[in-house]
Amino acid sequence: MAYPVKIGSLQCYILSDGLQYVDGGGFFGLIPRVLWQEVVEPNALNQIPVDARSLLIESDAGLILVDVGNGDKLPAKVRQRFGMDDRRLRLVGELARAGYRPEDVNIVLFTHFHGDHIGGATRWDTEDGTPGPLVPVFPRARYIGQRIELADASFPNERTAATYVADNFKPLLERKQLAIVDGPQRLAHGVRTDIVPGHTRYLQAVWVEDGGEALLFLTDAANWAVHFERLAWVPSYDIDPLTSMETKRRLRHEAAEKDALLVFQHDSQVVTGRLAANPRGFTVRPEVTELAHHDASR
Ligand SMILES: [Zn+2]
Repeated sequence: MAYPVKIGSLQCYILSDGLQYVDGGGFFGLIPRVLWQEVVEPNALNQIPVDARSLLIESDAGLILVDVGNGDKLPAKVRQRFGMDDRRLRLVGELARAGYRPEDVNIVLFTHFHGDHIGGATRWDTEDGTPGPLVPVFPRARYIGQRIELADASFPNERTAATYVADNFKPLLERKQLAIVDGPQRLAHGVRTDIVPGHTRYLQAVWVEDGGEALLFLTDAANWAVHFERLAWVPSYDIDPLTSMETKRRLRHEAAEKDALLVFQHDSQVVTGRLAANPRGFTVRPEVTELAHHDASR
């Protein structure tokens, strides 16, 4: 679903590249299943439905798109294994519902270089979408990524190799369409990035702030709303879980102070919410929720 959200004078849209089914242990790490299955019920294969959301911002620097989902280059076998929708161009379809074409996008920001966040940056330039020459999905956009993230993606290790796919970013580098930045950036009036390490070394979240209102696109600093409520709930994907905890501790205070609208990128139930303080810490008051089309047969 494409959800419009207005922050002050800034029109934003929350878009989705569709659901996939992944092992619940990936998202909940050390947390026993008897606890996390209260939040989301796994199927017989222990998989949970996970979304891949993007944020679109109409800014004075043009149209900014934050992350671009899995895209369409994954082999059919992999898509099937993860129960992914076979419709092509899911994110681009949602962009159309917001009234835009791929060539309208001026900036594509990568929160980090994992495949489920930047797979949709490039596509095969063939009629039927089978492998061939690679081209940018957003032909006129300037893509932006952090230097350390590009370094980690370019030289992965045994643990990180599966998620770093050169086809997602190398064609952009070759065309000089990928701008490499170092540290937090101000992208436009009211739009800035914030380095939020833990999941990866230079993960960047996005703040949209205008007219006394704020939105925080959390990316993988808190995948699900429950990750933001409970500091110790850290996904097993995170390369530095203790840093993830400290990042969340800082972000929660900042988000609470600003009463920011939180956007959860992977939560298939809670799309947006705001923090509410309680004596033990914080809970997330959901604002937009959706029922994942949970396919019990999977
Ligand atoms: Zn990630």
